[in-house]
This record gives sequence, C-alpha cells and structure tokens, in this order.
Amino acid sequence: MSRLLIALGGNALGNNVTEQMERLKEVALPIADLIEKGHEIIITHGNGPQVGMIHDAMEKENMPLPECTAMSQGYIGYHLQNALRAELAKRNIVKEVVALVTQVVVDENDVAFNHPQKPIGPFLSFEEAEALKVSKNYEVIEDSGRGYRRVVPSPKPQDIVEKSSVKVLLENGHIVITVGGGGIPVIRNGMEYLGAEGVIDKDYSSGKLAELVDCDYIFMLTGVDRIAINYGQKNQKDLARMSTEEANTYIEEGHFAPGSMLPKVVTGIRFAESGKGRKAIIGSLEKTNEALVGDSGTIIYSKEIE
Ligand code: ADP
Ligand code: MG
Repeated sequence: MSRLLIALGGNALGNNVTEQMERLKEVALPIADLIEKGHEIIITHGNGPQVGMIHDAMEKENMPLPECTAMSQGYIGYHLQNALRAELAKRNIVKEVVALVTQVVVDENDVAFNHPQKPIGPFLSFEEAEALKVSKNYEVIEDSGRGYRRVVPSPKPQDIVEKSSVKVLLENGHIVITVGGGGIPVIRNGMEYLGAEGVIDKDYSSGKLAELVDCDYIFMLTGVDRIAINYGQKNQKDLARMSTEEANTYIEEGHFAPGSMLPKVVTGIRFAESGKGRKAIIGSLEKTNEALVGDSGTIIYSKEIE
C-alpha cells in the first residue's frame, strides 16, 4: 500500500458545470481502481478556467480572487466527492470522501505579486484582450499559441495551513480532496491569515503537500500521455523515464513551457529528491493504470536516493 497524491489538470474538469459532472464520472474510474488496490489517496485539482469564470460572474460584488478560489474548491470538490462516492458505491467500497477548504501560506514579498504570470479564465481574441486591458485594467498574455488570457500573480506555496487535518483524515481511511486550485493563497498577519490577490499553481501546492504528508507518489494527470523534449516539433521525443539530473538539463535547454509543463517538472524534481523512494509521474488521466505499472506516463526519479 502506498500513499498517493493525484493532481487533476484542467482537462479533467471540462468547460462548464454539465461537462464537469460528466468528466468527473470518468475521472472517478481510475481513482476508484487505486482505492480498490488499497492505496491511500489525496486528490488535488486546478481551477484556472473556473476561478476566472467565478471572478467574472461575481464582478458586481467585487469578489476578491482568494474568495473566488474558495468558491471553486467548494463547487469542484462537491462534484468530485459525489462522482467518486457513486463509483465506490457501485463497487461496494465503503469509504468517506471529503473536500477540505484549504489555505496555502505565501510570502507577501513574493516577486510574483509584481509580475502576474498565471493565466486564468477563458481564451480571448486579440481584440477582446485589448478591451479588457482598458476596461478592467487586466494584465493579458499570449498563452502558448492557444490565444490570449488574463494573467494574475502566482506566488509560491510555503506551507499548507490544514496539513494536519489532511493527515488525520488519511490515517482514518478517508479520501481527501484538498489544495483545490492550488489552495487559497493567504499571508500571515500576526495571529491571523489574510487572503492574497493571486492564484497558486496547483502543481507546486500539490508537491508541497505531498512532501509534508509523506506521500510515496505524486501523479500529475494532464492532457498529454508523456513529457516530451522538442515538444510540438518534428523531432519531438516522448520520455518514459527522466532522472532529476536529466530533467534539470532539459529545463536549462528550455523544453518545458513556463505556464504549463514547467511547474510539473519542477515539482517532480523537488519531490523525487525530497526522500527515498519518492517518485513523480506525469501522464494522462485515461492511462492512469498503465502509468502506475510504467506502460505510460513519464516517471521522474532521483538517481542519488532511489
Ligand atoms: P494542466 O491543466 O493539466 O496543469 P497545463 O496546460 O498547465 O495542464 O499543462 C500541460 C500541457 O503542457 C500539455 O497539455 C502540453 O500542451 C503542454 N506542454 C508544454 N511543454 C510540454 C512538453 N515538453 N511535453 C509535454 N507537454 C508539454
Ligand atoms: Mg497547469
């Protein structure tokens, strides 16, 4: 039995409420397989499109971003809880599934607050993007050839406020859904936490949590079967295994896009080097079971401490 963290990417959630419920029914299958095998499971998820949607919808209320992430944790967590409960019930597995509203501590001096880099919300045309810059003072970037998107600060996670609760729940056999949307970014202010205006990358928060609660594996499930070098080019090469040394070299050579694959690879390296036997696997949701036995996905391991 292992302790696994499964980080769900945007493609696991679909583009609207109905799609999200449908997609999560499929997501529940490989996760239920893992539960059936006896593993302890933590599930995390992104919220880029959803947090943008909520922020737009709440415009009249001037809802701050951390509150919008809190809302996204609630609504995505609710769908995930029910999708997984239904699948477990079909298999006669009795397990509690619970989504935790989770806060993640960030540094108020993080340079990210002055350099918005994390795309949220929908893809926009050039004209739409220009209009939002003027009307709402949004910062906008071109997102890896896929269109324009609003960007917000994405500070790095330093600590998970509810980590002890995650551990207690796991130790009692519950399936825990946590650090949704990278967690609600908060800064310490004396005895209290205050929300910070940004969205944390869920891969970084997932890695942080996996270290803190002693996971054996972290799975980052996304839209591609494997990590590639020369991605999208004629000489693209998919990788089944990558040592942390090799991964660092590929990072230096610029093989991973900063807003998408880079956070996964950096998280994988950190986690694999954080303790003996720890490994990260990046792959597609559809091939989770194959990835577990090495037939799909890219495994990141440390040569030094394997
Ligand atoms: P998620 O929502 O799962 O975090 P992202 O879009 O943030 O998804 O990151 C995964 C995407 O990164 C892939 O779908 C692919 O388009 C892109 N990508 C960028 N560089 C690479 C690479 N070197 N190998 C594979 N995929 C890459
Ligand atoms: Mg991502």
